Amino acid sequence: MESPLFLVDDKHLPLYRIVWVSDTPHFCGEEDCMCEGRYEVRLEADESLWANREERDCLVTALQQWCGDVEGEGPIEGDL
Ligand SMILES: [Zn+2]
Repeated sequence: MESPLFLVDDKHLPLYRIVWVSDTPHFCGEEDCMCEGRYEVRLEADESLWANREERDCLVTALQQWCGDVEGEGPIEGDL
């Protein structure tokens, strides 16, 4: 089974630790902000990582695939 790890910045991040991924780049107006233009990846325990656009896009794709795999493991009774 594929390991759900994703490289953001220089950190191998387990997908299950991600709470959400920002859809828009960070902007706070602070001149010395190191995260401006980067995409916040929110983790548990009030931690965040900062991804560039390419990392963000790949990360969202990885999450979608991973979530899809998890859903695919058992029968789903939907009412579509
Ligand atoms: Zn900022």
